[in-house]
Amino acid sequence: MKCALVRPDGVAVRIERHPTGAARGPAAVVGTILDVADGLAAKARADGLTPIAVGIAVPGVVDEARGVAVWSANVGFRDVPLRDLAVKRLGLPTALGHDVRVGGLAEARLGAGRGAGHVLFVAIGTGIAAAHVVDGSASVGAHGAAGEIGHIMVRPDGPRCGCGRPGCLETIASAAAIGRRYAELAGEAAGASVTAADVAERAAAGEPLASQVWQDAVEALADGLATGQALFDVATIVLGGGLAQAGDRLLTPLRAALHERMTFHREPRLVAAALGDEAGCLGAALLALDAVRVQDHDAVRVRDHDAVRVRDLQEKR
Ligand SMILES: [Zn+2]
Repeated sequence: MKCALVRPDGVAVRIERHPTGAARGPAAVVGTILDVADGLAAKARADGLTPIAVGIAVPGVVDEARGVAVWSANVGFRDVPLRDLAVKRLGLPTALGHDVRVGGLAEARLGAGRGAGHVLFVAIGTGIAAAHVVDGSASVGAHGAAGEIGHIMVRPDGPRCGCGRPGCLETIASAAAIGRRYAELAGEAAGASVTAADVAERAAAGEPLASQVWQDAVEALADGLATGQALFDVATIVLGGGLAQAGDRLLTPLRAALHERMTFHREPRLVAAALGDEAGCLGAALLALDAVRVQDHDAVRVRDHDAVRVRDLQEKR
């Protein structure tokens, strides 16, 4: 768990990390989330700061409107009303978001996509997921599941995905898939525990097998991003997650492959994420601040509405 106290201007003043301990089960994980959030609020107060809102981001399917963690494969959440639990425990307005969507929110507003207006943030790690951010707000989808770009089918005859279908983008191009494919092709001894970063390095050094696996991933990614661009027509695509740390070894061939696929679509700017590990925390904070602002706005509207009514009544008299 990455946790932070974040000022309204987007600066993290205190950063903490705690083990998730997912093996303890979802109830214990929820307990730790609330303990850590409560602890951070107490530390803020001890430093003379006033906590005004809580932002929590979790993986899986998240119903942001209801504040419910609907489903998560890695943590085991099933319909956990995290927002209400946090409000009850901390007594502060709370927003619940999705880990990749808040990461995209932060990159679009504070990081590599700043000023772009329309941004597609793509996180490439164990899997591949995206956030489509327009004017600083990430699309959630009708069922809280927008942005599952990793399950775009790019190779119908490709390996079977965890989701059940063959040839999903993440079976070829996720960091996990790149390491796995190299290991399979190299054979047990030569390919054991090879990471995507190792493959990138070996490809750069000219090793044919690594070059092939890397190029396959780049081509598949370009197919997925071209589909994303056809759907969203963004100005900037921000690549995050572990694989983006390969930098130009990824960006240079990927820009070329994406360029080849553009016909009448405008080519987006393709850049690496700028906020690194902090993106999730900053994005959760932005979401919390947005929620507070909406509340304030509604309160002002109610107040203004009441003032108008009072004035009308006075005029009638
Ligand atoms: Zn899939």
